Amino acid sequence: MERDQALEQRWHEVNGRIAAAASAAGRNVSDITTIVVTKFHPASLVRDLWELGVRHVGENRHQEAVAKHAELTDVDLTWHFVGQLQSNKAKAASEYCSLVHSVDRVSLVTSLAGQPRDVGVFLEINLTDVPGRGGVEPESLESLAEAVLGTSNLTLRGVMAVAPQDEDPRAAFERVVGYSERIRALSASSTDLSIGMSGDFEEAIHAGATHLRIGAAITGKRSDAT
Ligand SMILES: *Cc1c(COP(=O)(O)O)cnc(C)c1O
Repeated sequence: MERDQALEQRWHEVNGRIAAAASAAGRNVSDITTIVVTKFHPASLVRDLWELGVRHVGENRHQEAVAKHAELTDVDLTWHFVGQLQSNKAKAASEYCSLVHSVDRVSLVTSLAGQPRDVGVFLEINLTDVPGRGGVEPESLESLAEAVLGTSNLTLRGVMAVAPQDEDPRAAFERVVGYSERIRALSASSTDLSIGMSGDFEEAIHAGATHLRIGAAITGKRSDAT
């Protein structure tokens, strides 16, 4: 019971901060989708969140996500996949995820494109100097976007990124906005920006985030996280 109240309190607190940041940026809060990232937490917590009014949840591991989804078929939630996705798991993931935020290579596009379900995709961009960190390198953005645009079941929603830990998130998000403009030049409707986590969602809202991926600030500390 106490735990539920703490969850409710954090959810309301974060919502208040989102509303304040949107207002400060002159933005309409209804243009911002808050995805609660529930990795490492049980299906019961996802259900508690749903009861509080959460309608978008994010997961980063297929195995865990598919099990939770199976326990929650009676609630109306939109599932977002935000973690690295192996191409051989793409079909299974597309069966419960409406959106994949972590599309970073053509082989994954090909795997998702072979599925009957429509999936919204974000191109994840690597903002670090370390290749292979997860995310496409900026120079390959256009070719990856073309691959998505060439499919019939994938909708290119926009770009996604994680701000590097050693950089001011405002500077990192400014670069993401530049990448988003490059994508828009190819596909005018692909305007979504999936940026902003527990530690930087206010900066992300200021930069124009349309999708926030917030975990710990709402769910609390993950007991088995390292
Ligand atoms: C875990 C995770 C988040 C949420 O992180 P918090 O810092 O807990 O808010 C967002 N995006 C991705 C890709 C994640 O894996």
